[in-house]
Amino acid sequence: MSRFDRNFKNGVWQNTIKKHSIRTDHYFKPTNHDEIAEIILRAERENKTVRAVGSGHSFSNVALIHEHNFLILPEKLNKVRKVAQLTLKEKYQEAPFVWVQSGVTVKSLNNELTNLGYSITNMGGINHQTISGAISTGTHGTGVNVPAIHGMIRAIQIVTHGGQKLQVERTKGISKKSLIYNGDFKIIRDDDTFHAMMVSLGAFGIIYAYILRVEHEYWLKERNYILPWAEVKPLLASRELLNKFRGVKLLINPYILTKGKSPNDHTCLISTYEIEYSKPLAKKFGDQFRNFIGSILGNLKIVGVMGYASIKKCSSKHPDKMPRLIETAMRNLQDKGYRDTAHKVLFQGGEYIKERAYDCEVAFDYKDDNYITVIDELIKNAAILKNNNLYHNSPIGIRYVKRSKASIAPEFGREVVYVDTPMVLDSNGEVEIIESCLKLMLEHGGIPHWGKFNKLLIRDEYDTDQIHPGLKKWRNLMRIYNPNGTFTSLFMEEMKIT
Ligand SMILES: Cc1cc2nc3c(=O)[nH]c(=O)nc-3n(C[C@H](O)[C@H](O)[C@H](O)COP(=O)(O)OP(=O)(O)OC[C@H]3O[C@@H](n4cnc5c(N)ncnc54)[C@H](O)[C@@H]3O)c2cc1C
Repeated sequence: MSRFDRNFKNGVWQNTIKKHSIRTDHYFKPTNHDEIAEIILRAERENKTVRAVGSGHSFSNVALIHEHNFLILPEKLNKVRKVAQLTLKEKYQEAPFVWVQSGVTVKSLNNELTNLGYSITNMGGINHQTISGAISTGTHGTGVNVPAIHGMIRAIQIVTHGGQKLQVERTKGISKKSLIYNGDFKIIRDDDTFHAMMVSLGAFGIIYAYILRVEHEYWLKERNYILPWAEVKPLLASRELLNKFRGVKLLINPYILTKGKSPNDHTCLISTYEIEYSKPLAKKFGDQFRNFIGSILGNLKIVGVMGYASIKKCSSKHPDKMPRLIETAMRNLQDKGYRDTAHKVLFQGGEYIKERAYDCEVAFDYKDDNYITVIDELIKNAAILKNNNLYHNSPIGIRYVKRSKASIAPEFGREVVYVDTPMVLDSNGEVEIIESCLKLMLEHGGIPHWGKFNKLLIRDEYDTDQIHPGLKKWRNLMRIYNPNGTFTSLFMEEMKIT
């Protein structure tokens, strides 16, 4: 059974954490762009909406179609190829460009890239997403100079209203100037359209494929070590830690343990990522060990280390034990360094955990230190919740992302710091804790991730136009490609971004 069929059974599509579901009898598995165009034309004739889903890994309802409308499962759009040099401007002909169909998972992409001698530039903590799903919600990894996944896009092949097939590139595009069509796709060279379509939430049409600029193969070294939060703060404020490495990720225990190794402060697990351009000579025993211990999930990794069942049980029967559990798991994640080909180091997630935890994740400006205050506020909030016997069951996570020109990416026009607060599904206080953290972060001017828990935004007190500076332009362009609302979703209506 494919990952698409696992989410779509008996006429009901569900996201993987089973928080959102919808019924439809109209589902399609197109094999090429002509079939996608036919589905869109039929939807337009029958006054239906149409939407493709990826692996269903978004925690928000961003992938949900309208009930009984058209659902596209892109499982047969699964090819990766080197881009034909003849179509490219001369200066790009030797560059590592790949053509990737929208249903390809990040995992398959990485396997194909390895075969071609290439590596992905960046990815999230797991590899189960489809490339189109991950890109459409702005999925990111960590590194203040490393772009989110959409930073790899050089062209988008999309089938849009009226069944038009377009290849959208920047104004100074990658295709030869003389080229008007690439195969059946008419080439549009326009910065604004390109930037709006990068993170598109499925609103511009059905993405058929991307042309991505990846990297020649490289390797990464990851190291995990512990420092008290009071010592980490000045390192963050001075940028010392962040400038030294390609990527940095932090996990912070929202609680202080009164007994043990670091009393009177919050434990912080620092993960650093360094590039290695040649294959590490020999793998040490510890190098191979990491993926075994670390069969775990990005910022939710602690859940994997501790075990879903034990956290769930403990959170309801002995909630006061959570601070100690988080601490133990964080300490177990320390190591002396792990080296491997880039995507294996960037991959942090075990298969099983993806359906058992979720988070809200909010972006803050990197250039001021507001986010450090926000973390301190989240820590205070955890103390207040604790008085009501509500405990976090995972540490607070911090990642950094390079600025982007994608109109509605939270990192539009500025480097950002993403702060996330994961909770195990069905654990004690799961909803109250996530909601209170999201509320707090919104009050501090944060911009939520489109694919994570962000439901509070639908309340009247939040104005998505105020929150996203690029939204107005995005909306104007989106209406050109979606004039009849064929690609509009419930999520877009709720968020008032139609
Ligand atoms: C365990 C776990 C770990 C995660 N880790 C990270 C992380 O490290 N960093 C991060 O940023 N995010 C992370 N996420 C969030 C996740 O990467 C995003 O929510 C992503 O969008 C999921 O991809 P998907 O393929 O499941 O897409 P879906 O959730 O199925 O869809 C996402 C959106 O893409 C649209 N879409 C999909 N395919 C097409 C297409 N062909 N044409 C047009 N629109 C399309 C859908 O309509 C929808 O709007 C994580 C999620 C999980 C479950």
